[in-house]
Amino acid sequence: MRLLALLSTFLFAVISGWWTPAVPSLNSSATAYVAIGIQQDTSIIQSEQSDPVSASDSTLSITYIANEGFFIEGDGKGILIDALFRDGVRGYQRIDLDLLLKLEKAEPPFNRTQLVLVTHLHKDHFDARSVGLHLKNNVYAKAVAGEEITHLLRDRFSEAFMVEDRVLGVTPSWKNAREMMVSGIKIKAMRMRHGWPKNYPLHHLGFLFELGGRKMLHVGDLEIIPENFEPFNLDEEKIDIAFLPYWMLINEDGAAIVNDLIKPKTIIAMHIMPDQLDTITRDVHHLFPEAVIASEPLQKFVF
Ligand SMILES: [Zn+2]
Repeated sequence: MRLLALLSTFLFAVISGWWTPAVPSLNSSATAYVAIGIQQDTSIIQSEQSDPVSASDSTLSITYIANEGFFIEGDGKGILIDALFRDGVRGYQRIDLDLLLKLEKAEPPFNRTQLVLVTHLHKDHFDARSVGLHLKNNVYAKAVAGEEITHLLRDRFSEAFMVEDRVLGVTPSWKNAREMMVSGIKIKAMRMRHGWPKNYPLHHLGFLFELGGRKMLHVGDLEIIPENFEPFNLDEEKIDIAFLPYWMLINEDGAAIVNDLIKPKTIIAMHIMPDQLDTITRDVHHLFPEAVIASEPLQKFVF
């Protein structure tokens, strides 16, 4: 019966156009695709089962790209989060052209990316052409983002037809989340509100995900209010690494949320303006002396 169920699942996956060959990985683990379905919101969600990863024999490496952008590698897989953008925003970091081309062309090490995550559409986090090109040049990568992102990809990337079946639009309402397995990576996409009232309607997502035996949280540009965290009981998740914008780490309101509602083992401070690096580093370390400061492009942290 189990064989029959697996066979029918496989056939369904092929018919749905979602099956892709397994990417050669450093730790090859058997992955069984168990359910694929089209959601009401027209996004396609894939569920998979994969072997659990033992924390003891896993190395996780995190490479800073710019602002809130990182390349995270573990289990022979890579995740690019908020790392595919062009224009940027004045005062914040931009991606050097050489590095941007490598990212868009999916050249090593970025060819190992299996998951692209985008927190929101702002130009210092996302560019439709950059995401589109990376997906086009890396057929093993799938993307998860709010539906605003999927619409922008369709509108602004002329070859969207080549990649859109690998882009998952996920838009839970504020304080709600969707859980999924994509490319064998467990993800929880949480709708958290972006700072400033004009940005409240944005499809802004925070992500909880696991790779290399570590649980990580990336919260994007969210507003520092307990309501953005309380619904998700993050303090019970035993988060290993939290990627947090520096503005959460330099005042008592943010510190209370970090200490009471997140409780991460390691903090990576991000979105730091280059011309305020010294001041921000001092202020972050005043409240969180152990926090890692992400400031230098291609700076690498190994855990
Ligand atoms: Zn933003």
